[in-house]
Amino acid sequence: MIDVEHLSKAFGSHLVLDDITEHIDQGEKVVIIGPSGSGKSTFLRCLNLLENPTKGKIIFEGTVVNDRKTDINAVRRQMGMVFQHFNLFPNMTIRRNITLAPVQTKLMSQEEADKTAMALLDRVGLKDRAESYPAQLSGGQKQRIAIVRALAMKPKLMLFDEPTSALDPEMVGEVLEVMKELAHEGMTMVVVTHEMGFAREVGTRVLFMDGGKILEQNTPQEFFANPREQRTIDFLSKVL
Ligand code: ADP
Ligand code: MG
Repeated sequence: MIDVEHLSKAFGSHLVLDDITEHIDQGEKVVIIGPSGSGKSTFLRCLNLLENPTKGKIIFEGTVVNDRKTDINAVRRQMGMVFQHFNLFPNMTIRRNITLAPVQTKLMSQEEADKTAMALLDRVGLKDRAESYPAQLSGGQKQRIAIVRALAMKPKLMLFDEPTSALDPEMVGEVLEVMKELAHEGMTMVVVTHEMGFAREVGTRVLFMDGGKILEQNTPQEFFANPREQRTIDFLSKVL
């Protein structure tokens, strides 16, 4: 589904991603872990061109995402993204938050989008909050809405950047639960997280990033049982 070829990203003279080549297949649940500042968010943001790569190519289903001729909006519509801080529109109801993009991009009529929104809200147990505003919801509810909003565009791939890091501990579970369901339904997912339980349980592959490189990767089982690199071992000793 995605081919990353020799991806580098520099901010000024600071090389943040250093020649990353990686392949993500349809249906994979790739979990990215690593210390703060290692380039995890930048890597994710390069996949949908929220950051413009300095070098290399991102290829999504055969289309070079970072080619000037590519309709980036058409590509982005197929990649849902969920952020640490939800990024809901505060001045719009939950229903509007969810239906805005599908209607504006003409993917759906307002009526279809409303129906889709209600069905998705029902799935995450928040149907009764359709006419609420984001400020009236808890962090866990807001994040479930952010996931639903991304799903309303019927993406082929979902990117998650530390979706539970800003939540109070008692709300982490309800968000991970929604992500687990999505995984079981076959969604292709790339998830940056510090939730090692989720990585073990849901991940099909774990990538460990350090210093702008993917230092090590493996199946979760192998990765946690037999980390190879000293820096991976050091990191795991801090988070496990
Ligand atoms: P992580 O998500 O692993 O914590 P990031 O990808 O956010 O790491 O950041 C990697 C490095 O790139 C950090 O040193 C960060 O300060 C730097 N960085 C990220 N975004 C920008 C930016 N827009 N401008 C300058 N430096 C940035
Ligand atoms: Mg980050």
